[in-house]
Amino acid sequence: MSRIIVLFSFIISITNLNAQQKIGYLLNQQTDLDKLTIQITFDALSASDANLVIPRSAPGTYILTNYIAFVDDVVGYTTTGKQLQGMIGDGSFFTFGESNDLLNKVSYTVDIQKMEIDLLDASTSSKAREDYLGLLGYSVFGFMEGLETEPINITINTDPSWPVFSTLRPDINRKFGTDSYEAKNYGELVDAQYLLGKGVQVIRVEESQIPLYVAAYAATTDNLEGIGNTGISSLQKLADYFGYVPMPHYTLVYEFLKPISARHDYGFNMEHLNSMTAHRDITQDYTPNRDLGSIIHHMGHSWVPLRSWGEGYRPFAWQVAPLIETIWLNEGFIWYVTFQSILHDETRLNWWKSNMDNAPDFIKTKTLKELSLLGSTQYASDFRIGKNLFSRGALMAHDLDDYIQKQTNGKKSFKEAILGLLNWSKENQRAFKYNEIEPIMSEATGVDLSSVWNKWQNAPE
Ligand SMILES: [Zn+2]
Repeated sequence: MSRIIVLFSFIISITNLNAQQKIGYLLNQQTDLDKLTIQITFDALSASDANLVIPRSAPGTYILTNYIAFVDDVVGYTTTGKQLQGMIGDGSFFTFGESNDLLNKVSYTVDIQKMEIDLLDASTSSKAREDYLGLLGYSVFGFMEGLETEPINITINTDPSWPVFSTLRPDINRKFGTDSYEAKNYGELVDAQYLLGKGVQVIRVEESQIPLYVAAYAATTDNLEGIGNTGISSLQKLADYFGYVPMPHYTLVYEFLKPISARHDYGFNMEHLNSMTAHRDITQDYTPNRDLGSIIHHMGHSWVPLRSWGEGYRPFAWQVAPLIETIWLNEGFIWYVTFQSILHDETRLNWWKSNMDNAPDFIKTKTLKELSLLGSTQYASDFRIGKNLFSRGALMAHDLDDYIQKQTNGKKSFKEAILGLLNWSKENQRAFKYNEIEPIMSEATGVDLSSVWNKWQNAPE
């Protein structure tokens, strides 16, 4: 008995020791400024077991992006000082040979300029300018396979005259040249944005219920304040609707850019746990309050799907663009909350219907689930797919709302259904399965929603 106890406590202490050690990330900006060197240090692994994975997609992007194409000079370092050259594997990863040498560090370079030239969708790419480097975490950081749930310490080194900002720990007082941040795991590290350089302006929006920031490149101060005002108004509206704010802080990241070619598209925005990124073409007029719907929508994603999500969305299979069955929910439910519940924009209903009516046959003949699977890699690259997904999701939310209100004499609405999903996720801390969605919403509203649910599962034609 006592021996078992001794052994048991030994195992616990080893586990605790491991839990305290962090994976180290070091990002060095090179002197030509368009290139980065990334260094990852970790507890030693046998070289033959070590794979450096470069992500091919990220939650909410619904696209396959070959980030490995911008990665070069991959080297592994052994505990005895040997260097092993990284070799491209059968997928989006590098291997380090068959030896049993112990590897505890890898390094590689990322070419940001090449990334921006090659990726026509500006929302998927990091950017380098004379006085600016704007990094999307997942576009530059890889990970050692198997270590993606470990806590991370990241240090960023840049030009000594350049201030450093990250959405991981937003602050108007920025350090110059270098700063360090903590992330709970790889997912949190790469969900964040890193903005370096003298071209970045940061303001904190006063009187917000959570610390609210605007970080922007190339905007005037007026724009920043205008974005801040639209941001605080969006946050207030969402807080009033949901009844709470789950984010510890929030940053609106804006880039105002001169297009690098006519083919580059600056129209898409991206949501993250505690931030959103927006990209604007400076050759077009910009009025911050016209972004109200877009900011509510992207901030609204901090509730759904970032804090209530279906299978495939999280944990995320970084090496592929995973198949996701619930894109219509992630997008459509938040479109509905934004434009119907909050902004009461009746014209949107007809627009969602016309998106469905005008869709090509290859979209019309797909069930909800089939279309979502297709959208997992092609949501924005054929935006008829994306528009159809959020239109179907929003119109389903509309039907659910009507039905719930009728059955409860107006006592409950779609709000109780979406809050039901959020509460369920908070309790269960896992992705909901497809066939759990309707029962969760039915239970939360006290209304059997299966008839509405079943109707929307079918292909429109
Ligand atoms: Zn969205």
